Parts: sequence; structure tokens; C-alpha cells
Amino acid sequence: MASEKEAALEAVPSDGPTIFDKIIDKKIPSSVVYEDDQVLAFRDIAPQAPVHIVIIPKVKDGLTRLSKAEERHVEILGRLLYTAKIVAKQEGLENGFRVVINDGPDGCQSVYHLHLHVIGGRQMNWPPG
Ligand code: 5GP
Repeated sequence: MASEKEAALEAVPSDGPTIFDKIIDKKIPSSVVYEDDQVLAFRDIAPQAPVHIVIIPKVKDGLTRLSKAEERHVEILGRLLYTAKIVAKQEGLENGFRVVINDGPDGCQSVYHLHLHVIGGRQMNWPPG
């Protein structure tokens, strides 16, 4: 299996459908930890920590990546961040956690449907790799 970095460097930034559409449509299984009418949160298939959850908007609306965000996306961006807090609490991450958004090839993004990573359950390091 390709490393996350290899997958990111091979990924072609595009507006087309991604694996996350299939997860939203329940065409492929995922371990959902939170869902409402706007967002879906599920466990990452390749966890980088004891807790690793991906949070996505259910409607992409051009948000392939953070750098494509426009004024109309302010509400959903806030909703995604607030969901990170809900999920972290649900997962018992009282001692802290990390939220990551990878943007584009340099940011190691491999799936072009904006998403937050909530990572926790171990001591994080800084700077990130
Ligand atoms: P990115 O590298 O784009 O920031 O993050 C994409 C994330 O999606 C990766 O951490 C990767 O492991 C995760 N991922 C990719 N495909 C699937 C999948 O089919 N199911 C789940 N649960 N996670 C996936």
C-alpha cells in the first residue's frame, strides 16, 4: 500500500467525485462516529494515532480543498471545526488533540474533498513532518 505521502503526490487535484462521495452515499462501509444533515465524521482507514477521525461536508460545493474556500463556505467551515470539538469530546480526548487540514500536494492532500483530521490519544510532536 502506498504511503500517505506517496498517495498525496500521486493524487491529481480535481473537482470530480472522490472516495468520500461513496462513503457519504454508504456505497462503501465506514465507521461513522458522528453525522448530521451537513457533516459526516468517520474513522480514518489508515489511522495515524489511537484516535483518527475524518470530518467532511456532505455537500462539497466546490470545496475540494481549503484553498478553494469562498465567503459562502464560512458557515460550513465553522460547522466542520465545531464538529471536531464534538467528536474529540465523544472520543474522550480531554487532554487535547490535533486538527489538521492538508491542502494540495505540498500539504500532503490525497482526497480532493475538503476534510479535517481529528487526531489524538497520544502525545503529538511539533513541528509536524
Ligand atoms: P488527506 O491525505 O487527503 O489529508 O486525507 C485523506 C484521508 O482519507 C487519509 O488519511 C486516508 O487514510 C483516508 N481515507 C482514504 N480512503 C479512505 C476510505 O476508503 N475510508 C476511510 N475510512 N478513510 C479513507
